[in-house]
Amino acid sequence: MKVIEHIEQAKDTLISFEILPPLKGKSIESIYDHLDPLMEFNPAFINVTYHRSEHMFKKKLDGSFEKVEIRKRPGTVGICAAIMNHYNVDAVPHLICGGFTKEETENALIDLAFLGVDNVLVLRGDAPKNETFFEPEPNGHRYAIDLLHQVMHMNNGMYLEEDLQNGVKTKFCIGVAGYPEKHFEAPNLQSDLQYLKQKVDSGADYVVTQMFFDNQKYFDYVKKCREIGINVPIIPGLKPLTTKKQLSVIPRTFQVDIPTEFSNEILKCKTDKEVEQVGTEWLIQQSKELKAFGVPVLHYYTLGKPLVVRKVMEAIQ
Ligand code: FAD
Repeated sequence: MKVIEHIEQAKDTLISFEILPPLKGKSIESIYDHLDPLMEFNPAFINVTYHRSEHMFKKKLDGSFEKVEIRKRPGTVGICAAIMNHYNVDAVPHLICGGFTKEETENALIDLAFLGVDNVLVLRGDAPKNETFFEPEPNGHRYAIDLLHQVMHMNNGMYLEEDLQNGVKTKFCIGVAGYPEKHFEAPNLQSDLQYLKQKVDSGADYVVTQMFFDNQKYFDYVKKCREIGINVPIIPGLKPLTTKKQLSVIPRTFQVDIPTEFSNEILKCKTDKEVEQVGTEWLIQQSKELKAFGVPVLHYYTLGKPLVVRKVMEAIQ
């Protein structure tokens, strides 16, 4: 079922979770171990992230180095199929522009359609770790909106080959990303919002936000979106903060603020356990307030912390 149908039919705020594929070499059991403690809270859907290859230098037998491309977390499409089969819950694969040609994307979409996956979250992706600027693949997409157009074309039966403009119509429901504290490359929030509006006007069914730790940022963002005619559901993305190190890593990596009141509470903690308790309590309060505001879905980035998210679920029931 499509995410947008879940939202339209819901009587209350829904729950959804986001997971990463395991590192290459691990089994699907690691995904089930991660999700099992969360499934009794009936997520409407589960997102699975997509990861591009990274450039690495591998030592050859003669001692010299060769540049290779290695994908550390493959398997998004397979995991989505496994989740749907194992838990009978909808899966939402992320699709990214970075590292993929249009043809590879088309093939992934064909696989997903055959597997009965009804949803995709369409993203640009970031530059590889050791590179400053995002560069598309030759014959790849530069912006998420270009990838979105490709999915929309397939939803209208149009494939890449010119003589295949009357193919099977896929029926993907399309989500896109939004940034309450603006995307780090955007010169200002206004221009970022205009590009978000373009994605929505081009067919995106809903928006999922980057994580935020101050609900007011989300409330202001939704207001600004509505003012410029972005009327689709805007799903808040929420992440548990559970270590002191994250106080500097999260703002640097995701370009989001951590409110002073929250960071002061974390800094006062003497043990890791205390930090986790404060982080969990903060997320519970955020979730309760967002639920009272009437958000369509609470979307949790579970990233290795399913038991923290479980505590949050128990507290907000
Ligand atoms: P875009 O919408 O393409 O925007 C990128 C930048 O370009 C923005 O600054 C925007 O303002 C600007 N822009 C947009 N359109 C245009 C245009 N037509 N002309 C000029 N400028 C434009 N990354 C992964 O690699 N894998 C994942 O699974 C993943 N999942 C994510 C899930 C969520 C909910 C979020 C919020 C992010 C996720 N990311 C993931 C990270 C994401 O790929 C990065 O934040 C990326 O830098 C931007 O992606 P986007 O889809 O927002 O890009």
